[in-house]
Amino acid sequence: MPELPEVETIARGVHERLRGDRILQAWFGSHREPFKTPPARQARGLEGRTILSVERIGKHIVCTLGSAGDKDVLVSKPEAQWIVHLGMTGRLLVTIPEGPVAAHTHARLSMASGRELRFVDPRRFGRLEFRDLRRDAGFGAPGDEPLKIGGEQFAALFHGRKLAIKAALLNQSLLAGVGNIYADESLFRAKIRPRRRAGSLTRAELERLRLALREVLEHAIRLGGSSVSDYVDAEGVRGFFQLEHCVYLRTGLACRICQTPIRRILVAGRGTHFCPQCQK
Ligand SMILES: [Zn+2]
Repeated sequence: MPELPEVETIARGVHERLRGDRILQAWFGSHREPFKTPPARQARGLEGRTILSVERIGKHIVCTLGSAGDKDVLVSKPEAQWIVHLGMTGRLLVTIPEGPVAAHTHARLSMASGRELRFVDPRRFGRLEFRDLRRDAGFGAPGDEPLKIGGEQFAALFHGRKLAIKAALLNQSLLAGVGNIYADESLFRAKIRPRRRAGSLTRAELERLRLALREVLEHAIRLGGSSVSDYVDAEGVRGFFQLEHCVYLRTGLACRICQTPIRRILVAGRGTHFCPQCQK
């Protein structure tokens, strides 16, 4: 499952390659699941439009599109959005039309530059959506953005909450896009036990957690950024598995700080890894 840093890396990669490019033609596959907007409507909406920008919002990739016939992306007004959610196994590839078409390719957009943007998703939990901003509201994630949120706002999210802090971190209506790996890793860095009640954390602990979360996410984005071509052009989510985790999937191995074996428990139904010595 692609997590926030992977999605950020893919969005940046597509932005670098396709910003200012124009969509000439859109082709969609026949499976129903990937289409939140009917494919015929997506094709009509996309064709002719220029890609003004590509960014990550929560765990979604949002392509902002200008009007058909736009020439200058700097002065174009956003008129539409194409929203990609990668689901479990989705990938966005920027390739050339002659490039071999992977099995489970559900969308191909031919660009004026001669490139092709493809959406591939074997398990079909991913979603593609088109919004016409003259009619529809723009896409927004329900939760706050973990890379941007300030201390006051972060503390307010958890104030008085009885659920475990790990569960609160995963709650997408509080913070957008934090997944299991980065919840475990940031709690370790902040030295906080995953089962602590969110509302019981002191202001100092919450501030440690906010900074730790930002640190682990930014670190992963930096690592991913260096292997961006792997993501966008080729096999998808490779580089991130080389990330050196401190606790995630290290059950029974020695803590990198105190040598105590890392423990695994379930919190909110999710495998949760922590150091019983370092985390209070
Ligand atoms: Zn430890």
